Amino acid sequence: MVAPGGRERWEFMLHPGETRQEMERDDKIAALLAPWGRPDEMQVERRAVYRFHARVVDCFQKGRVFLAGDAAHITPPFAGQGLVAGLRDAANLCWKLAWVLKGRAAPAILASYDVERRPHAKAMINLAKFMGRQVMPTNAVAAFLTHGAMRLLRAVPPLRRHFDDLGIKPKNRFGRGLFVRGRSHLTRGGLLPQGWLRSVSGEVRLSDDVLGPGLSLVGFGLDPRSHLSSAALQALAAAGGEVVQICHRGQRLHRAAAAPGWEDLANAFLPTVPFGWVALVRPDRTILHDGPIAAVERIVHEGLGVLGPGDPVAVPAPALAS
Ligand SMILES: Cc1cc2nc3c(=O)[nH]c(=O)nc-3n(C[C@H](O)[C@H](O)[C@H](O)COP(=O)(O)OP(=O)(O)OC[C@H]3O[C@@H](n4cnc5c(N)ncnc54)[C@H](O)[C@@H]3O)c2cc1C
Repeated sequence: MVAPGGRERWEFMLHPGETRQEMERDDKIAALLAPWGRPDEMQVERRAVYRFHARVVDCFQKGRVFLAGDAAHITPPFAGQGLVAGLRDAANLCWKLAWVLKGRAAPAILASYDVERRPHAKAMINLAKFMGRQVMPTNAVAAFLTHGAMRLLRAVPPLRRHFDDLGIKPKNRFGRGLFVRGRSHLTRGGLLPQGWLRSVSGEVRLSDDVLGPGLSLVGFGLDPRSHLSSAALQALAAAGGEVVQICHRGQRLHRAAAAPGWEDLANAFLPTVPFGWVALVRPDRTILHDGPIAAVERIVHEGLGVLGPGDPVAVPAPALAS
């Protein structure tokens, strides 16, 4: 594998009877590398014997305890998704904890962490196991067949793109969880994409930075504020929500003059999302609810309803251990 800084990473599967002590010796490493280059011209920076595991806990939560990262799931590294899965856990869990502690959502939402994250972590581990089987055949016949099949599949351009872009990776899209169920233009329980946006003053930023750490009510093309009652705007603000307008590149018509409207510079949102659509987006960028702007009052009401009533007094912040 090519690594940063002109480095390379080489991996060799241990066979039965081969020991850590033997495999980490200079002469053994030189013998392993000899068929592939000039070991005397290589500088070995690190050597390590790993045992790969594929394990997931039965539940990511028990009472007040939440498991995240490798404590909850360990994957063989073949899909390169071990740390990434941990980051997804953190993104999913942290805002929920914050929202409950701030009294913006009911403690019941915390159960959605396990419901949403465990199936995806499991699916990613299954993919890593599958990929491991492809790259670690244990005899020449199996190697010939699997590598031959991969070569054939990669000869078909759409399949090659599928493999090269890791299109076989399970999508981070929830079947069940903290969103308003139903079929729509956007995939509720799926992620809002990220794209480059430009402000009225010409500032260019990534949409994740624009949306910030709160809930976002995003109006595509139109400004949702002008379609919302003041009660709904207040409820949204009380739940940590902000309104953002994302419009077509160069769109002038309908663009809120004074409000912070952003242009979709690289078509990341429009025209895939219909003009005049709104989406209520969670802090982890999962789509909570969506629909046409005419229904925005209901969308806010139903979306906030999923979070349940918050109660700052019911959940005191945990005391720090001295
Ligand atoms: C060979 C290999 C290649 C990999 N390649 C990739 C890759 O390409 N992409 C990718 O996304 N992931 C990859 N990973 C996986 C990635 O390294 C891990 O998933 C990630 O480091 C896990 O992070 P974590 O914070 O959950 O756990 P850890 O990194 O294990 O962090 C846990 C920390 O808690 C500390 N700790 C433990 N017990 C206690 C205690 N009682 N009190 C206080 N501290 C404690 C530990 O010392 C440690 O520092 C790879 C892993 C390996 C082994």
